[in-house]
Amino acid sequence: MPGFDYDLFVIGAGSGGVRAARLAALSGARVAVAEEYRPGGTCVIRGCVPKKFMVYASEFTDHFRLAEGFGWSVGARSFDWGRFMSLKDAEIARLSGVYAANLVKAGADLIEDKARFVDSHTLELVGQGRRVTAARILIATGGRPRLPAGLPGVEHAITSNEAFQMAELPRRIVVVGGGYIAVEFACIFQGLGVETTLVYRGTNILRGFDEDVRAHLADEFHKRGLAVRLSTQHERIEKTEAGLVSHLRGGGQIVSDAVMFATGREPYVEGLGLETAGVAVSEAGAIVVDDYSRTSVPHIWAVGDVTDRVNLTPVAIREGAAFAQTEFYGKPTRFDHETIATAVFSQPQVACVGLTEAEARHGLGAVDIYRAAFRPMKTIFAGREDRVLMKLVVERATDKVVGCHIVGPDSAEMIQLAAIAVKAGLTKAQWDATCAVHPTLAEELVTMRDVYVAPGMGGST
Ligand code: NDP
Repeated sequence: MPGFDYDLFVIGAGSGGVRAARLAALSGARVAVAEEYRPGGTCVIRGCVPKKFMVYASEFTDHFRLAEGFGWSVGARSFDWGRFMSLKDAEIARLSGVYAANLVKAGADLIEDKARFVDSHTLELVGQGRRVTAARILIATGGRPRLPAGLPGVEHAITSNEAFQMAELPRRIVVVGGGYIAVEFACIFQGLGVETTLVYRGTNILRGFDEDVRAHLADEFHKRGLAVRLSTQHERIEKTEAGLVSHLRGGGQIVSDAVMFATGREPYVEGLGLETAGVAVSEAGAIVVDDYSRTSVPHIWAVGDVTDRVNLTPVAIREGAAFAQTEFYGKPTRFDHETIATAVFSQPQVACVGLTEAEARHGLGAVDIYRAAFRPMKTIFAGREDRVLMKLVVERATDKVVGCHIVGPDSAEMIQLAAIAVKAGLTKAQWDATCAVHPTLAEELVTMRDVYVAPGMGGST
């Protein structure tokens, strides 16, 4: 659009911003992207990707143990955190470079600076002290960890941001929270041999997930010896010579070398000057958008965690793509936020798509539950008691599978495929008509024949 420096200015080179910028640039639009930290955003730099490397690293402890059950003598083993971190940093640097290169290849300008609104069409590049104008602006600044305000001693605590950069692996750690990040990191640290305690204020971890899943995961954690302290909270953190002392409500104390809070994230809007541009935010600080990710200002959009809709990388990517399709390809596109599969990379993994049993019972009425909890052949062989859980929630009136929940190895891989069937609204009869792949864990998904009746429940509704 003439009269402006750019047709599109994107703030934030994370998953959503980069996808939108690349697609827009490939349409021939003049596009710039400002990034104040490193291209790649939370997912690549201090989220999903480095987290998954840490999960892989930590899983070896269990692989070694399991190998012995198959006749291997594994011998002495040790883990070099420093070496792992430099390998991890090198891979993250490579991926960040790929993000930057892809933007440039698509014809976009990558500006390594913080951008803030001067007015609704003008941005100041804070470091460079210059101004640029754009016809359309997309805010994709993501989120950042939130520490509890006013907790005495919280300055001694870290968040996931610092956990990705620790110079040394602590000997003892307290992880606070019961959501994705707390559960994943507690398992990572425990797997790496750190004496780990997970502290959560509720009665069981992963609030919002299916109740069977939560109970099953708690049992598996118990078998693996992960210390979980429920129904309590930090009153203060004290730094002593012996280490950091977590003083918990009810009188408990835990001494550790690090305390990591994973008690939620918040939209990253600080310093953007949204007020100047007239962009409305919710009480929680998220940018308010419509189905097309348009904000209260008609030529400004926002995608990803900064809008606090469904805070997942693939969602930000799809929102960014939908925006670009709508605005630069003339194809009005809304991303459908219903029935999004998700996985928690705990050990064992949790993966689910669709409704929990409780949601289905409240929202749909009569449902049938199909459920298998069994010992998988791999760990049974090694004499272990690990159990896998698979659960299908079926709407009785239509026979549609409306929810699928799995706790067990590779469940994140399985749920991607199960999500196609759930999203497509396939019936239980159609799942059952699919021949099993044997011997696999996933075959249970198509071989559960009997409606499950929970102990103490007379019927299946
Ligand atoms: P979540 O919202 O998932 O969990 C926050 C946890 O902290 C909850 O257990 C909450 O308790 C607890 N909490 C909140 N405030 C306090 C407080 N003041 N004191 C003590 N506990 C508190 O946030 P996460 O930080 O774990 O993750 C943020 C988001 O990032 C996720 O929702 C997810 O969308 C995304 N994510 C996805 C991943 C994946 O796909 N594998 C991995 C990591 C993150 P309560 O339940 O009682 O409210």
